[in-house]
Amino acid sequence: MALTYPKKIRICEVGPRDGMQNEKKMMTTEEKARYIEEIADAGFPVIEVGSFVSPKAVPQMANTDDVFRSIRQKEGVEYRALIANLRGVDRAIACGCKKVKLNVSASVAHNLANLNCTPAESVARFKECVEKAKENQIGISGSISMAFGSPWDKEIRIETVCRIIEAYMAVGIREISLSDASGMAYPSQVAAICHTVREKYPDVSWWLHFHNTRGLGIANILAGLSEGFTQFDTSFAGVGGCPFVPGAAGNVSSEDVVHMCAEMGIETGIDLDRLMEISHHVASFLGHPTDSYLLRAGKASDLIREVPTRQAKNHTQSK
Ligand code: ZN
Repeated sequence: MALTYPKKIRICEVGPRDGMQNEKKMMTTEEKARYIEEIADAGFPVIEVGSFVSPKAVPQMANTDDVFRSIRQKEGVEYRALIANLRGVDRAIACGCKKVKLNVSASVAHNLANLNCTPAESVARFKECVEKAKENQIGISGSISMAFGSPWDKEIRIETVCRIIEAYMAVGIREISLSDASGMAYPSQVAAICHTVREKYPDVSWWLHFHNTRGLGIANILAGLSEGFTQFDTSFAGVGGCPFVPGAAGNVSSEDVVHMCAEMGIETGIDLDRLMEISHHVASFLGHPTDSYLLRAGKASDLIREVPTRQAKNHTQSK
């Protein structure tokens, strides 16, 4: 049976947050704001602008409040930020951010060692964040990092992931992202987990977030697509990493995913040429090679040209 895919998907550009937070070279508020406006103009429906966490922990994100104050927010585009606690909601209110995202690690071992509670118990403590966000007309979603594997656990059990999903639902969250920060997910596993959670929790609006650490990012996206998932995080030029994971790579590059979708006839609403221009600028701003096939090879459609006559003859002869 041929696989079927959704006709239309939504992509969130997470480069300004997930990408840039792992880079030594920092963008000024003006630079970040300019990129974010260009990303919106290229057609992205959702952009992860930054995070409201401790500037000591993540100095690259210290200007997130100022970035929110600087950007011209385009109608119909969602500008979201990562938060860790109530302080994050307060910062969102103060700077005009209308969408925040919480995160918990699915690693029980990691959570117990650092926070002395299980991931589901961590999520239960988010209730005050959800209430305050809702009181202030701020949308709120939750993400589960290490949902497909973690460096601290032999295995992340689907039961653990389900318990976290239920904890999110119990505090009033209906939009959940499954994230593979450790780059350990593989396609058959992604398909199985996606299938299970979609059947079990039909009211949840799902996101998938893959890092391309072992080259399986785009295959994992395809596995999600085949299970009817329609919302994915990607990063311009494939920029990014994860401070806890040795050798971690960035998210799958936005242009690689938009290109794949264009070839497959899946609508993203994103202008690939404009996106590639943005990603080229980001890569040259950073001054080092990034994980983007498209930036290296260009679009497949750009290759199509006439066969030179001489070569054509040789080809026939050598048959
Ligand atoms: Zn990530």
